[in-house]
Amino acid sequence: MKAIRIHQHGSVEVLQIDEIPLPGIEADEVLIKVETAALNHLDLWVRQGIPGVPLPVVTGSEAAGIIVEVGDIAHNRYGLKKGDEVFTIPIRSCGFCAYCMAGQENLCSDFHIPGESIQGVQAEYIAVPAPYVLKKPQNLNWEEAAAFSLTGMTAYHMLVQKARIHPGQELLIYGASSGVGSAAIQIAKVYGCLVITTAGNREKAEFAKKLGADYVIRYDREPVGKTVKQITNGRGVDVVIEHTGEKTWIDSLRALKKGGKIVTCGATTGPKVEIDLRVLFIKHQQIIGSTMGTRRDVLDLLSLIEKDLFKPVISKIFSFEDVVKAHLFLEQGKSLGKIVLKFE
Ligand SMILES: [Zn+2]
Repeated sequence: MKAIRIHQHGSVEVLQIDEIPLPGIEADEVLIKVETAALNHLDLWVRQGIPGVPLPVVTGSEAAGIIVEVGDIAHNRYGLKKGDEVFTIPIRSCGFCAYCMAGQENLCSDFHIPGESIQGVQAEYIAVPAPYVLKKPQNLNWEEAAAFSLTGMTAYHMLVQKARIHPGQELLIYGASSGVGSAAIQIAKVYGCLVITTAGNREKAEFAKKLGADYVIRYDREPVGKTVKQITNGRGVDVVIEHTGEKTWIDSLRALKKGGKIVTCGATTGPKVEIDLRVLFIKHQQIIGSTMGTRRDVLDLLSLIEKDLFKPVISKIFSFEDVVKAHLFLEQGKSLGKIVLKFE
């Protein structure tokens, strides 16, 4: 079978389509014939080189497809069967530690993301443990089913589990056109929050409005922190959803109201930031870290999807042979929503 793999880190040239053996399955696993697999910024970072990636590695964290083989436990305990249309949750954890038992899999010391620290899902067939396989919602097509769990669970975890958002709160969500940003805007609107977001050009600003954002700040034209203060009549926002780091940090602090929370899950523009602790404690503000999410977050998101309250946003679909083009498209920041690879 064919799989997209990298044998070394580097530019798009290191992406290759390899012929590898069909994976066998354990009793608690299913074999999935992959229809679609989504790209994430994580794919770019893995390709460019982050520590802990076993090489060669099959790339990709989330996929959707049809079950073609099912282990006994996967069938008897999880009710999965041949022919089921499913999608995969982009995490793996031990399942037994105190964190896993409490449903906090993203704190497990044996936590993995497929396509990062373990083999990924951008292959014709994948073996996946049953706890990380869920039925595809009927109101999503194959492209959508593969393209919401990673960014969706990340955004949901930040907003609902970490920031504990509630109706009437005012939020600043960076990067409306990004995977996490576009998911966060939709979730925040379901929760009845006022959403201020950022966009770098007119096309992205229009995209943000369509997603439901109340205000869009063109960060190429206006200072974000100051504009947030104007929009909120000088108060600032209750919550900032951060995933950019160095470039936006000062604006994030400036935009935050007394008692507000910054929740951060990324540092795409750099990881080192400055903070004046006196301002932090005098204003009773919180800075909260968050990575990925839990199975529970995906299940909660599924119930929003089934009620048409959340919709994965697809920017562009590529055939899996065109994975190089797909990486370039994502790298160049052209996407509005998610990029999906389609397997024939
Ligand atoms: Zn665990």
